[in-house]
Amino acid sequence: LRSKLPWVGTTIFTQMSQLAAEHQAINLSQGFPDFPASPLLLDELNRQVAAGNNQYAPMSGVAILRQQIAALTARCYGRLVDADTEITVTSGATEALFVAIQAVVRPGDEVIVFDPAYDSYQPAVELAGGKTIHIQLAAPEYQIDWQAVHRRVTDQTRLIIVNSPHNPTGMVFSATDWRALADLVQQHGLFCISDEVYEHMVFDGAAQLSAHQQTALLDRTFVVSSFGKTFHVTGWKLGYCIAPANLSLEFRKIHQYVIFSSFTPAQFAIAAVLQQRPQLIAELAGFYQQKRDQFARLLQSSAFKLLPCKGTYFQLADYSAISTLNDVEFCHWLTVEHGVAAIPLSVFSRQEQDSKIIRFCFAKQPATLEQAAERLCRLN
Ligand code: PMP
Ligand code: GLN
Repeated sequence: LRSKLPWVGTTIFTQMSQLAAEHQAINLSQGFPDFPASPLLLDELNRQVAAGNNQYAPMSGVAILRQQIAALTARCYGRLVDADTEITVTSGATEALFVAIQAVVRPGDEVIVFDPAYDSYQPAVELAGGKTIHIQLAAPEYQIDWQAVHRRVTDQTRLIIVNSPHNPTGMVFSATDWRALADLVQQHGLFCISDEVYEHMVFDGAAQLSAHQQTALLDRTFVVSSFGKTFHVTGWKLGYCIAPANLSLEFRKIHQYVIFSSFTPAQFAIAAVLQQRPQLIAELAGFYQQKRDQFARLLQSSAFKLLPCKGTYFQLADYSAISTLNDVEFCHWLTVEHGVAAIPLSVFSRQEQDSKIIRFCFAKQPATLEQAAERLCRLN
C-alpha cells in the first residue's frame, strides 16, 4: 500500500505514555488528569446505563445535551445558538476537527496553522488533499503577528485553524487577536476552525474570550469544544462543534459516516451535570490555576526555567541550564533515567527547532506534582 501519510508515525503522546509506563515514570507527558471526575458525573453515567440509555443516540447528539450546550454557550459567551441546527455532538474534539476539515478543504487548498500546532491538524488537511501553511510562533510569548499572517494568504487559502488557549504553549488570545482574526477571515473570505478545548482554563482573572463573541466570524467558523477536558474524562471522547446551520449541515453529512453518533450514556450524564451543577465549569479556571501555581512553586529551586502559562493545563519549561541534549533526547533521558515523562516541544513544529523546551502536564493530584518536582529538582 502506498501510504497516504508517509511522514506520519505513532503520535508523541502514545510514545511518551508508553515509555513512561515501561519505566514506571511519573507521566506528565500526554495531557490527562490523574484524579477522578466529579462523583455526580460518574454516578450519573452508571444511572444512565442502568436506566437503559444504551442504544444509538440521534446522529447530532441527544436533544437535552444539545440544549444544555446552547445554554452554556449563552451563559459563557452571550451567543444564542440553535440547538437543533447549529450544534453537533462528536466523539471528542478530535473527531470534530477532522470532520470540519473534511467539510471545508478541497484538493489544492491551503490551510494556515500556527506552529507549535496540535498534531491532528496536518494529517486531516492532507487526507482532504490540502496543504498546511505553517507560521512559526516564537518563545516565550508565542504571539501572532497578524500582518505577517495576511502576507501568507494566497488565492488558494481556504481555512485558518486557531487554538486558544493554546496547547502546548499556554498562550491565550487577547481581544486584539480575536479582532485581527475576524478581519483576516472577512477580508480574504476564509473559513475558520477555532479549537477551544481549553476554553474554561484561563488564568489570572483574564476574561474568557472566544470566537463565539466575534460576530464577524460566526458565519464562517466551526468552534470545537471538548467535554473530556472540561469534565476530567478524556477517555469518554465526547466533544462538540458549533457552526451556523449551513456549515453544520455539511459537517453532519461527514460526521454521520465517520461515527454516526457518540456514546449515548455519557451524553445523558453530561447533560444532567450541566443542568444540576453549572458552577463546575466556572470553578475550573481556579482549580487549574492552583495546580499551575503549585507546580511553579515546587520547581522554583530547580534548574528549569518556566515560560508564561496563561491557560490550558500545560507548562513549558526551558532546560538549557541542565543539558545540551535536544528536546526529544532530553525527554527520553528524563523518563528513563529520572522517572518523569514530558513532551518535547519541537515535535509540534514543522521547521526544525532547537529550543531546549519541553511540556509538562500539571492536571495531576498535588502528591503527583510533589513527587515529580522532587525528581526534577535533583537535576542541576
Ligand atoms: N485540540 C487540542 C488543542 C487538544 O489539546 C486536544 C486534546 N489533547 C484535542 C484537540 C482533542 O480533544 P479530545 O480529547 O476531546 O478529542
Ligand atoms: N491532547 C492531549 C495532549 O496534548 C493528547 C491527546 C492524544 O493523546 N491524542 O497531550
